[in-house]
Amino acid sequence: MHIHDAVFLEDLCPKFRFRQWRKSIHRFTGKSCIYCGKPSESIDHVLPRSQGGLSTTENCVPACLSCNGDKSDENALYWYRKQKFYDPRRAMAIRAWLEGDLRLAIRLLQWANPNAKVKQNYEKDESEYKAA
Ligand SMILES: [Zn+2]
Repeated sequence: MHIHDAVFLEDLCPKFRFRQWRKSIHRFTGKSCIYCGKPSESIDHVLPRSQGGLSTTENCVPACLSCNGDKSDENALYWYRKQKFYDPRRAMAIRAWLEGDLRLAIRLLQWANPNAKVKQNYEKDESEYKAA
């Protein structure tokens, strides 16, 4: 009975799930753009939706509006290499993210930008995971 209700509720609230998912993506990087490190204001589809890219965690990275708009429909890694703020550690992080290895991606991002906020958020997620 309860399980049935839960499934029903999930189906009824796809918007809520979508919002939670977006939030969790931003939290991985401490709300910073995966490309340049500025505050992330949007979710970028690495493989654009116009090219069949899916809204999955592996294909969606936190990005600032500037990077998201500038990249447009270009290949993310190719586009990123041409940027002034290009950092090979971030490029590796993006690659790891696309492969679904978020743990490695986050470690590489920390290395690229030793920002306490990112670290704290990640550790918080870790402890939540252990407690669950
Ligand atoms: Zn950016």
